[in-house]
Amino acid sequence: MAKSIIQAEKECYICRRWYNVRTTSGLEEHHVITGPLRAFAERSGLKVWLCHRHHNEPGYSAHFDVGLALALKAAAQKSYEEKNGPGAHAAWMAAVGKDYLNA
Ligand SMILES: [Zn+2]
Ligand SMILES: [Zn+2]
Repeated sequence: MAKSIIQAEKECYICRRWYNVRTTSGLEEHHVITGPLRAFAERSGLKVWLCHRHHNEPGYSAHFDVGLALALKAAAQKSYEEKNGPGAHAAWMAAVGKDYLNA
């Protein structure tokens, strides 16, 4: 299993990024890109740790809030392109087919 390329710490990404709170209990792994691209996400480390509330509860969570899901996808693309250097944008477009940074 690849490690996340989006975050270094095992803590809720949303709690940290939006509320500057460190949440380390009850974490669930969220694949930022799913469906037929889940294997690509796993291989490339396009996943984040989320607390249950920010992962899969109605309201502001990755599986219910479209804006939040898109923000995570943009963060994943940014990390992917930074990590993989020249050619990474073309590789992203070939695999994912959508540019979340210039949507
Ligand atoms: Zn959280
Ligand atoms: Zn998930």
